[in-house]
Formats: sequence, structure tokens, C-alpha cells
Amino acid sequence: MAVIIGLTGGIASGKSTVSTMLKERAITVIDADVEAKRAVEKGEPAYDEIVSHFGQEILLENGEINRQKLGSIVFYSEEERMMLNSIVHPAVRRRMNEQKDEAVANGEKMVVLDIPLLFESKLTYMVDYTVLVYVNKENQLQRLMKRNGFDANEANARIRSQMLLEEKVQLADFLIDNNGELASTEKQLDDLLLQLKDKQ
Ligand code: ATP
Repeated sequence: MAVIIGLTGGIASGKSTVSTMLKERAITVIDADVEAKRAVEKGEPAYDEIVSHFGQEILLENGEINRQKLGSIVFYSEEERMMLNSIVHPAVRRRMNEQKDEAVANGEKMVVLDIPLLFESKLTYMVDYTVLVYVNKENQLQRLMKRNGFDANEANARIRSQMLLEEKVQLADFLIDNNGELASTEKQLDDLLLQLKDKQ
């Protein structure tokens, strides 16, 4: 039997860093953000639903969805945001499930679903175990400021707009502490993979 892992984190906590390490270890990682983009490409069922609800005016000249325009519509309207989510979320879940099933059918013993909002969107039922990439508030702030060029106010506002990592710590089955050097993160990941192998 294959074990399905849900990988999550908070803004700038190091989830992409860990996801890259997993891929380097030849583990299939299915990225919810990538699937969310693909799910609304021209030709996809969700694309048709979005155009039929929001109208042709949210399209670019090449027929693709103008994500910025759609983003600003849903930013200002909770109702429209819920409508968009009700179209996109099931499509993303379907795509992730299909790819997971395919990987398992190919004999893979471990598949990772990389889902930033795993807890917020209550998607833990999709996975066997949840893994949180954790950093303390100070490192999160410093790394976010450095990566995105934000000042402390802006970085703090971004951190506060999400479920706090401390809260996610309570919910996760396993933690990877990414406060230290990357080598330490890598070592924890390898130890965790060994533990999870036993659960297959
Ligand atoms: P987001 O979800 O916001 O995209 P993330 O959780 O995927 O972020 P990363 O992009 O992996 O986070 O890491 C955030 C920043 O911190 C990056 O610039 C990355 O290079 C850096 N970083 C990650 N891990 C470490 C580490 N252990 N030591 C120093 N810097 C790190």
C-alpha cells in the first residue's frame, strides 16, 4: 500500500525548499498551486464554468483567463470569491486525486500532496499523514522580508493574514523544523521518510 503525505507550511516557512528536496529523492510531489493554474486553462471544464459565470470580459486576447482581473473581482466580493472557489476547488482536488492514483498505479509507495492551505481548506482527509514545515516567527519574518523585499510591516501583515504556524503545529502529525541550516532540514526529512516507510 502507498502512503499519501500532505505537505504544508506557512508563508516563507520553507515548504518549496522541502518539496524540492523530496523531488531530488525521486518522490512524486503534486503541487496544489500548479494544479490550480492548470485547472483553469482553456479547454478545462472549470474554464468553461468560470467564463459562463464571470463573462468574456475576464479573458485575455488569447482566450486564457486574465488571472489578475479575476483576482481583483474576487478580492472585492466575498460572494464571487465563494463562487470561484466552488468551481476551482473541486477541479483541483480531482486533478490531484487523478495524479495520485496514477502514481500509485505505477507502483509508487509514497506520494506527497503539497497543499499550502491543507488545514484551512480542511483537506486532511485526502492524505494519510500531515507534515508541517515549521519556522519560528522571527525567521519567518526575516526570510519573507529578504525573499519578497517587504518591510517589516508588510511582512507582518502577510504572516498575520494566515493561520499562524503555531496553530498548525497543533494539527500536524509531523514537523520539520526549518529554523536551522538546510543540512539540518535535509537530515530531518530523511529521518521522517524512513519513519513513514515503515507505515506503508
Ligand atoms: P511560500 O509558501 O510563501 O512560497 P515557502 O514555504 O515555499 O514559501 P520557501 O520559498 O521554500 O518557503 O522559503 C522561503 C525563503 O527562505 C526562501 O528565500 C528560501 O530560500 C529561504 N529558506 C528556506 N529554508 C531556509 C533555511 N533553512 N535557511 C535559510 N533560508 C531558508
